[in-house]
Amino acid sequence: MPMRSLCSMLVGGALMFSNAAAGAANPWEDIKRPSQQTSASIGQYTNGCLSGAEKMPLRGEGFQLMRTGRDRHYGNPALIGFLKDFSTRVAEQGLGQLQIGDMSMARGGPFSYGHRSHQVGLDADIWYSQDPRALTRPLTAWERNNISAVPLADAKEHQLIKANWDQRAPRILRLASEDPRVERIFVHPTIKRELCTSASSDNEWLRKIRPWWGHNYHFHVRLACPAGDKNCVPQQPVLNAACGEDLDWWFSDEFYAQLRGTAPPQKKPEPKPKPPMPQQCAQVLHAP
Ligand SMILES: [Zn+2]
Repeated sequence: MPMRSLCSMLVGGALMFSNAAAGAANPWEDIKRPSQQTSASIGQYTNGCLSGAEKMPLRGEGFQLMRTGRDRHYGNPALIGFLKDFSTRVAEQGLGQLQIGDMSMARGGPFSYGHRSHQVGLDADIWYSQDPRALTRPLTAWERNNISAVPLADAKEHQLIKANWDQRAPRILRLASEDPRVERIFVHPTIKRELCTSASSDNEWLRKIRPWWGHNYHFHVRLACPAGDKNCVPQQPVLNAACGEDLDWWFSDEFYAQLRGTAPPQKKPEPKPKPPMPQQCAQVLHAP
């Protein structure tokens, strides 16, 4: 059963920001420099870390970072390379300029708020909306941290917001999906349904585009483990149909009962103990 992802709730505004780190200190959030090690993604997307991270530049051809005050724009060099290539293609095709939200922290690792994944430097959140100011001039620090993303779907009502729909979005998503470095892309289920409805039989590119909770303000691009990153734990490739049954659940009675909180109380399974982080992550955390 899908678990609610917080990643999507972050991007639209600063609303989750005030809930930061209510718990114990998190050493992964305290370290502000990448480790001086060979670059590698270590462990699982939801339980791992990142050595020798590279920092994404503030802006470049076809992109501008957002929410820079959070200091979450580090990645595996493979992610930096992908984002630059992808943004360049978006610009070249006249699809505007990407606004890139959270990636990973300087050494990856778990967050005290906001994401379950994004731990190994291979995940990036990209806004659907493009602020017109960013097309004509660099955004100011205040703007980067305060401009709100515009949602394409209303997650509560579980429907598209037609007035906000951007014709560029399907083409941008397709560019990302057809890049062989990309493993999965998460979008709101109503967005996936719209993409499937509008696509002809030429829909193979939609296979990697996965419906998931949230993701109405941004899409989430996940790269596959780079070749040579031996300690990076890959995910199973997506084997479902490009537009098939797995989308149906998101429009089923069971789903709506969950969404509206009217599902009969279920016996919750015992929570599994949190797996330990990969051993190498202790070295990453303490490396110079
Ligand atoms: Zn994300």
